[in-house]
Amino acid sequence: MIPRLTAVDAIEKIYLEFLNELDKSDFSGDIETSYASRFSVSTDNSVYQALPQAVVLPKSTDDLVILTKLASKPQYQAVKFSPRGGGTGTNGQSLTTGIVVDVSRHMNQILDFNAREGWVKVQAGVVKDQLNAFLKPHGYFFAPDLSTSNRATIGGMVNTDASGQGSLVYGKTSDHVLGLTSVLLSGEVLTTEKTSTTNAEKIAQQDTNIGHVYRQVLATCREKRSQILDKFPRLNRFLTGYDLEHVFNDDLTEFDLSRIITGSEGSLAFVAEAKLNITPIAPYKTLVNVKYDSFESALRNAPFLVEANATSVETIDSKVLNLAREDIIWESVKHLIEDVPGKTLEGINIVEFNAVEQAEIDYKLEQLTERLEQMVSTGEGGIIGYQVTTDLPSIGLIYEMRKKAVGLLGNTKGSKKPIAFAEDTAVPPENLADFIMEFRELLDSYQLNYGMFGHVDAGVLHVRPALDMNDPEQEVILRQISDKVVALTAKYGGLMWGEHGKGYRSEYGPEFFGESLFLELRKIKSVFDPLNRVNPGKICTPISSDEKLVSVDDTKRGYFDRQIPVEVKESVETAMNCNGNGLCFNWDASSPMCPSYKVTRDRRHSPKGRAGLMREWLRQLSNQGIDFNDEEKAILKGDDDSSWFARRRNKKKKNQGEYDYSHEVMEAMDECLACKACSSQCPIKVDVPGFRARFLQLYYARYARPLKDYLVASIENSAPLMAKAPRLFNFLVDSAPLKALIKKTVGYVDTPLLSVPPLHKQVGDVNVLDWDLARIQQMSEAQRLKLVAIVQDPFTSFYDADVVADWVKLIAKLGYTPIILPFVPNGKPQHVKGFLKRFAQTAKTAADFLNQLDELKITLVGTDPSLVLCYRDEYQKALGEQRGDFNVLLPHEWLKDVAFPAVSETVQTQYKLFSHCSEKTAIASTHKDWQSIFAKVGAQLTPVAVGCCGMAGTYGHEASHLDNSKQIYQMSWADKVKQNKPEEILATGYSCRSQVKREDGFKPQHPVQALLKIIQ
Ligand SMILES: Cc1cc2nc3c(=O)[nH]c(=O)nc-3n(C[C@H](O)[C@H](O)[C@H](O)COP(=O)(O)OP(=O)(O)OC[C@H]3O[C@@H](n4cnc5c(N)ncnc54)[C@H](O)[C@@H]3O)c2cc1C
Ligand code: SF4
Ligand code: SF4
Repeated sequence: MIPRLTAVDAIEKIYLEFLNELDKSDFSGDIETSYASRFSVSTDNSVYQALPQAVVLPKSTDDLVILTKLASKPQYQAVKFSPRGGGTGTNGQSLTTGIVVDVSRHMNQILDFNAREGWVKVQAGVVKDQLNAFLKPHGYFFAPDLSTSNRATIGGMVNTDASGQGSLVYGKTSDHVLGLTSVLLSGEVLTTEKTSTTNAEKIAQQDTNIGHVYRQVLATCREKRSQILDKFPRLNRFLTGYDLEHVFNDDLTEFDLSRIITGSEGSLAFVAEAKLNITPIAPYKTLVNVKYDSFESALRNAPFLVEANATSVETIDSKVLNLAREDIIWESVKHLIEDVPGKTLEGINIVEFNAVEQAEIDYKLEQLTERLEQMVSTGEGGIIGYQVTTDLPSIGLIYEMRKKAVGLLGNTKGSKKPIAFAEDTAVPPENLADFIMEFRELLDSYQLNYGMFGHVDAGVLHVRPALDMNDPEQEVILRQISDKVVALTAKYGGLMWGEHGKGYRSEYGPEFFGESLFLELRKIKSVFDPLNRVNPGKICTPISSDEKLVSVDDTKRGYFDRQIPVEVKESVETAMNCNGNGLCFNWDASSPMCPSYKVTRDRRHSPKGRAGLMREWLRQLSNQGIDFNDEEKAILKGDDDSSWFARRRNKKKKNQGEYDYSHEVMEAMDECLACKACSSQCPIKVDVPGFRARFLQLYYARYARPLKDYLVASIENSAPLMAKAPRLFNFLVDSAPLKALIKKTVGYVDTPLLSVPPLHKQVGDVNVLDWDLARIQQMSEAQRLKLVAIVQDPFTSFYDADVVADWVKLIAKLGYTPIILPFVPNGKPQHVKGFLKRFAQTAKTAADFLNQLDELKITLVGTDPSLVLCYRDEYQKALGEQRGDFNVLLPHEWLKDVAFPAVSETVQTQYKLFSHCSEKTAIASTHKDWQSIFAKVGAQLTPVAVGCCGMAGTYGHEASHLDNSKQIYQMSWADKVKQNKPEEILATGYSCRSQVKREDGFKPQHPVQALLKIIQ
């Protein structure tokens, strides 16, 4: 049995007192002090890890004022803070051992919008894609782009001066900031916008903190102007730090203090609101994917493409392309980036043209393609081909693939993982190819693996060399390469931090800026934050402080990870490999990625949060001498020392409030819907349901389980029994007193009713072959090829029998002989609840049964996606080779290859497909397949972009999850369901159909039911 885990770092006394007083104040935001909450923000996408004292999540500017005013009291002057948004920094920008002030949970409202004047005002926690979704119907967008646009916040973008694709035309975030509302550590609210220098001088006269700020910035930027112009590189990117150059306009008549805050990495103030200029959407776009025989050719050819007046030129090397080929995303782009027959594609440049008039693009395109044709024919520039993409959805798909590139690199096999530390170098574009060749030589001299992609038009290249941070010697290599890259970028007139900011690379600041200018930065820091309290150690320290800057050598995640035995790490690989890129914080409610995070907006309840908490749990177990794998094996063999009494006793102590870190992990795991979006959509394929089940198994070997878990796990045994008297069962569970009793004792709500009449009666007189294995074995192979065996699942067969009955009828109508296989439990409910020993037994029985049929070459089809997919994934993991080769197809996987009879009447209904999230995330072709099937019968089917429905098996029936279940539905499904007629809506998941019934009062059809009606 695992021990109680109590070795968690306590919160320092001064912080406890501060938080206590904050709690008693008018502060309306959240204050989180649990170890799990603190741990969940202890990492970003960098190699560093720093545990904060607490996380506070303000709801308004007023909250920030309350927080900072309290912090100004003399007794709290040692309390430090770090502002945080999406936490997607690549170099520890938002990490702190003080208090994390996370503005992303609550401060995410769009406050004002003026299309006529072309601006929008937002709170700092608004996500960039959220803003663009708001602006799109008005014909505008917020132009600076970044790969993390679906989770990075405006506050984060402002503070890192983010930019990305298209920056030659669209610039950086600072170019679009019209004004900022920031809160200083003194509690003062500082509003900044462009003003006359005369006015700035007037403000500088005031004897306030704000007056001091103006005075210092005016003095520095005026007196050191020529030095500044000399020092700051003429690049399309800002270097982060304080933008001394752009505070003034060219003739020094205008002054903009916002420019000091943009790119300051949270080291000056908390940005609460931003007024941003917006750009009209260019309605016409075209992409040309130019293909090359080598990556060097792609780099050297980039200036030629820029000269073709492209809006942007992005590059990707073959390593990244090959990783994309192995990812689910390739399915959507493979026809847009086809191989060139007889040639090896080693790199591509993605050239974008966009314009307000199509004619403008046509002209540019004609010129370019004419040249490209010549170059392909002569082999000039290493160009082996090109492909033009004009439709906007396809263009979007190519960029989605490009945006996923970093994450894909993280999926590299082996212990060495591509890591960020020199990943955003920027050099003048004309130097890029030579710079990269030398950079490659450097990495090759260390025999490192790496992939490259980036914005060649701006001279920015993303490189993540693969290193194993569990190995202290490789930390030394990281330092050596860092130093060498700093020197190399300087040699080519560039910067090591060309896009993502400095963070732990701040130590290179003094060397870069030079003593004199760095002193000016420190003076500016001093007037904003004299005691070094906001994001201390980043960018610079105030003059009077003798504290150090953070360093490349500071504590890394590897220091903690290496405390876990290698075998354990290997066995829980996906939790270990999460690199914190934050893709699972996707803001968009219509994307399947992590419903539990979306509904709670609590980082603990995200795949990243859960992976991190699991890692920490394994570390703490290891430090107590417990080997996770051994513990697991003992339970599976029945050799563990857990007893009923011990479990009850431990549970009692838990109820009495006894601390165990495992409870915190449990809380995070409990909110997971096991929808599996993470297992396929996360670039690293972090499989939360997989490690969650393993955690639950060990947790419940120590603590007594709730009754509902046993009921859920045995549903596949009880449902067939209850289905013998469905009316009686339904009468009982539908009665008010029993409902109340079930809710109180079991914690279960809205218990579904069994189908009446049961399946066999609903099938009616269809020609179904009775199950008789011996008879089937005697059939000829040709006869058996005409058989289609339905693998039953407990949910559709017993609770949604009309779907299975119609499925049987459809199979018969299509000229095949259906067989309804005897019900054999699948085990998914056991897996979800972590009964892994029972699951392994159930899986073995089912696999043995299904393998017999597979050997007879009988087509096996299932109905419910999550159960069918369990045969593929969880069975493989539990049984390994014993799983055998059987394959249960989903309805569309079989129907797509089957001929349909001609349909004489035109199908009027415009069907809308609401597919199950596990299905569409695991099988990228789901929508296309269903569309082609419906096309066979002349029917139109439009997939609807929805996330999870919130039911997810039994999750939505558990009283403790009811509110979240309903909210997830409201967030992602409700509006889209209401926009369509009930008879048009088709849902492939049993859970989804039940949820629509519960929330909207009607049960949508399964697509097979619609098809049956059409061909009947
Ligand atoms: C896979 C990947 C791809 C990336 N691609 C790009 C790219 O294309 N272009 C690019 O520019 N960056 C890129 N980045 C880096 C990162 O996404 C950006 O720096 C982004 O702007 C950070 O936003 P965030 O909301 O996550 O901020 P965080 O990471 O939370 O914070 C970033 C910095 O801003 C400060 N900060 C955040 N909010 C506030 C606030 N309200 N007030 C004061 N300070 C604040 C923090 O203290 C920290 O110093 C990438 C990162 C990853 C992981
Ligand atoms: S779970 Fe996946 S998507 Fe989320 S941060 Fe980790 S690696 Fe990125
Ligand atoms: S299974 Fe679903 S709910 Fe659970 S962590 Fe993964 S995406 Fe989130």
